[in-house]
Amino acid sequence: MSRFDLCVVVDWSARSTPSPARDSADSIWIGAAGRDGVTCHYRRTRMSAMATLESIFDEALSKGQRVLAGFDFPFAYPRGFAQAIAGTDDPLALWSALADRIQDAPDNANNRFAVAADINRRFSGNGPYWGRPTTLGLPDLPANKAGYLNPFAEKRGCERAKGAQPTWKLTGVGSVGSQALLGVPRLQALRQRYGDQLAVRPFEDRDAPITLVEVFPSLIADTIAALAEPDEIKDRAQVRVLAGALHALPGETLDAMTREGDPVEGWILGLGHEATLTDAAMRAIEGPAPPPLRNDCFAMPRGVDWVPVDDALARLRDGLHVVAATQRVATADAAGRVLAEETVARRSNPPRPNSAVDGYGFAHAAIGDGPQRLPLLGGRAAAGQPFDGKVPEGAAIRILTGAILPDGVDTVVLEEDTAADARHVAFRGPLKRGANTRKAGEDVVEGAPALPAGHRLRAPDLALLSALGIGTVTVRRRLRIGVLSTGDEIVATPDRVAEPHQIFDANRPMLLSLAEAWGYEAVDLGHAPDDPDIIAARMDEGARAADVILTSGGASAGDEDHVSALLRSRGMLSSWRIALKPGRPLALALWNGTPVFGLPGNPVAALVCALIFARPAFSLMAGAGWHEPQGFTVPAAFSKNKKPGRREYLRARLTDDGAAEVFASEGSGRISGLSWATGLVELPDGAMQVEPGAPVRYIPYASFGLT
Ligand code: AMP
Ligand code: MG
Repeated sequence: MSRFDLCVVVDWSARSTPSPARDSADSIWIGAAGRDGVTCHYRRTRMSAMATLESIFDEALSKGQRVLAGFDFPFAYPRGFAQAIAGTDDPLALWSALADRIQDAPDNANNRFAVAADINRRFSGNGPYWGRPTTLGLPDLPANKAGYLNPFAEKRGCERAKGAQPTWKLTGVGSVGSQALLGVPRLQALRQRYGDQLAVRPFEDRDAPITLVEVFPSLIADTIAALAEPDEIKDRAQVRVLAGALHALPGETLDAMTREGDPVEGWILGLGHEATLTDAAMRAIEGPAPPPLRNDCFAMPRGVDWVPVDDALARLRDGLHVVAATQRVATADAAGRVLAEETVARRSNPPRPNSAVDGYGFAHAAIGDGPQRLPLLGGRAAAGQPFDGKVPEGAAIRILTGAILPDGVDTVVLEEDTAADARHVAFRGPLKRGANTRKAGEDVVEGAPALPAGHRLRAPDLALLSALGIGTVTVRRRLRIGVLSTGDEIVATPDRVAEPHQIFDANRPMLLSLAEAWGYEAVDLGHAPDDPDIIAARMDEGARAADVILTSGGASAGDEDHVSALLRSRGMLSSWRIALKPGRPLALALWNGTPVFGLPGNPVAALVCALIFARPAFSLMAGAGWHEPQGFTVPAAFSKNKKPGRREYLRARLTDDGAAEVFASEGSGRISGLSWATGLVELPDGAMQVEPGAPVRYIPYASFGLT
């Protein structure tokens, strides 16, 4: 089942006059979410709303698209009503019966109360409809629920949803009865206009380009409130957020939802799937895609032979920019995510002055030096249980940590420094004014910047944002890193059989896990033999599914270096010969616009190149900025005569007394050394004679985000 190209949500209105000329609440709002985002329309009358809907539907039909349109009023009544009015349980027969009775003029003038009264007259008792303006003289329609007798159930099954109101109630806060009476005939007109092209779920199973469903935005009220724009009209936020959420759902999920429920009483789309809707709503609020990377972003000037590490890093830093779009997520789900915008405190911390200790509070003006004895007021102030009254000057009150300072209290004496009975508290002055209290906003003031754009959120940051009342944040979409291994000799996983000439893929699990440790989404592109067509197919897949492709193997310039050969012919290869050990050329390219980092096959070189080059480059593309790894100067526990010309990274770890020892062999095939180490020793580009005790730069794995 293909997805719905367009998801429309309509906030309906039963007004009897046109809505105000300027956007306002309790009017008709239409939100339409498609590939290019959500568009919202405000309409003053039901007739003009229908004209808008028809033009949306007509355009979609002409483009061969599928549309889902949700309306926020009941599509059916409790069991038995359709049977009584239309002679069948089919709600759509009731639609046509109601459409025959309702008159609804272009200026919203309508006869809904008279129709309801008419229907009530057919039943014993005074229901099922109730609620009308008291000025309307309709004796068959009770104005309120006094003496109300309804032959049918009060609610439909789906009206167990929190806040859902009975269809019988025509007026009053949150009522939907009038909306249904004036909405159903309009939908019936759509059925007539579009015929087979339109299906109403869950009553009709047929697949049609236009699908109508009942919706109830309050199912995700909290999410809508959290995602509302500043000062946005609530009705607008409802249609905008819900339409976006529906459109963000996978096609099959949404289609299945439309088929759920009761074919007699109807159903609220998504009831029971609130978490799924919330999730989709969060995902839907995605900002525009950032501009693509420039074609020449990896270009190296001609004639450059060996590039020093720092120059290579500077080139990467200059050539790349943020590629991840923005999205809104709940603060509670934001650990590891990168802030796309500066966050601003919505509330001060602390919000009000409070006590820092358990003790007694009073006005500082009333005390002096030496022994003090203050009468104790009854009651107390505790965290979450404020003291309502005023504390008169010269009196004291029991106060506990975190309690708001009661009116009249500006100073607190620590419990341990007092002697108290039921009536008095005694202690020794002087005390500083404001002692043992926290001022409102002494930590962060409302409106102050809390965390900057580009900050990667850690556990303590979630505490700060939550304390400041920030429930959702705009973050960067997680960068997706595609990881591909190449080589005829490679066997994809160690649970397979390897011939003597074969080796197990060590790089892919390492690089996938690295991508995850860095907070990105790791996309496994598997292993490809040294066959250009297969490698190209994997690269195509990578360019679709990932923001960056990380390959290992075949990146040099030799006969068997298929990755670089392919990138040279099709991917604008720029092969960087970096003055680095371990490491050979780094192959940098764009494949269908997606950057490719071609690492050496050798696992030691692959890891070092990933840590030194890929890590800061990915961080920049993810929106978190460029970061140098933090290193520490420690004494060497080894000797080495380092030659000039290349920067070297040695697998190292700290001894018990804090010196750096290095792995016994520098052989770049020694994977065990990577695992033995807890970091790298970085030796500068020039020559260096290292003796035990000489200062060297040690960079722990943790500084590279390796956990
Ligand atoms: P290459 O860069 O393709 O010339 O490979 C250099 C060395 O790394 C060769 O010994 C390869 O067998 C080895 N190698 C390449 N890819 C991997 C891998 N995914 N896992 C382990 N070793 C590899
Ligand atoms: Mg190879």
